[in-house]
Amino acid sequence: MTAARKRRLARLGIDVWVQRDVAAAAGTAAERDATATAVVPETAVAPNPPTRPPAAAASGAVVPAPPVAVAPAPDLPTVAGPGAVIAAAPIGAFGDWAPLEAAVAACTRCGLCATRTQTVFGTGARDAPLMIVGEGPGADEDASGLPFVGRAGKLLDEMLASIGHSRERNVFIANVVKCRPPANRDPATDEAEACRPYLEAQIALIQPKLIVALGRIAAQRLLATDQPLARLRGPLHHYGPGQTPLLVTYHPAYLLRSPREKAKSWQDLKGIWQRINGVPG
Ligand code: SF4
Repeated sequence: MTAARKRRLARLGIDVWVQRDVAAAAGTAAERDATATAVVPETAVAPNPPTRPPAAAASGAVVPAPPVAVAPAPDLPTVAGPGAVIAAAPIGAFGDWAPLEAAVAACTRCGLCATRTQTVFGTGARDAPLMIVGEGPGADEDASGLPFVGRAGKLLDEMLASIGHSRERNVFIANVVKCRPPANRDPATDEAEACRPYLEAQIALIQPKLIVALGRIAAQRLLATDQPLARLRGPLHHYGPGQTPLLVTYHPAYLLRSPREKAKSWQDLKGIWQRINGVPG
């Protein structure tokens, strides 16, 4: 990075993230330029104060969380899974929602960017005590830009309503990957890893009391395990740098196919309600 660019960023009040090990190596000026470029995305440049999205502001339902300093993402490996890598766009520091949303919207970190109609960032209350995480957008979500629409989304809304929650008031809903996997296949592990810094940034901003993973794939990707859903349901897990409590339950699409499991789902919902409200199980 040139001295002039550094001065410009400093005037904007923007921190420049530089990998410690590379900086310590203190190579040539060209090497330092390359390193700085790799960890300061243009999309992360946002000196604006915390903002509330227009729709949320209009409803008055969302109280934005205070700005949270989110650590820069690790230097993730190049993605070479089922989708070819388009570009290894780096992720830098996200001080607030606006730069995070901009980074997701422009993201080309994994091959899923090539087939998406649009990214599906997530929706809901940004101070929610409960965060729901699914595996990835489907066709309806890819078309609308919103997570969990269609029949499965309707059932999810009903499940949440049964414990006094809604995405309008006190739930934030997101996915492990922000772009639709082609033909609704499961997101690959490397795609989930490429997208993980965005989810972790969302969690750092929201600071939920509880994360609920919907379905086997979301749970396995979040918990980095290949254990079956039957083992993952029930016990309390923890996720991410903040070790946020995490429970696993059925995906609503599965419940639509297997309505007999709804009784078990209700047990899970009661457990979710108890944990959010601090009620002993
Ligand atoms: S799935 Fe995530 S990492 Fe991959 S292109 Fe979309 S936003 Fe980027």
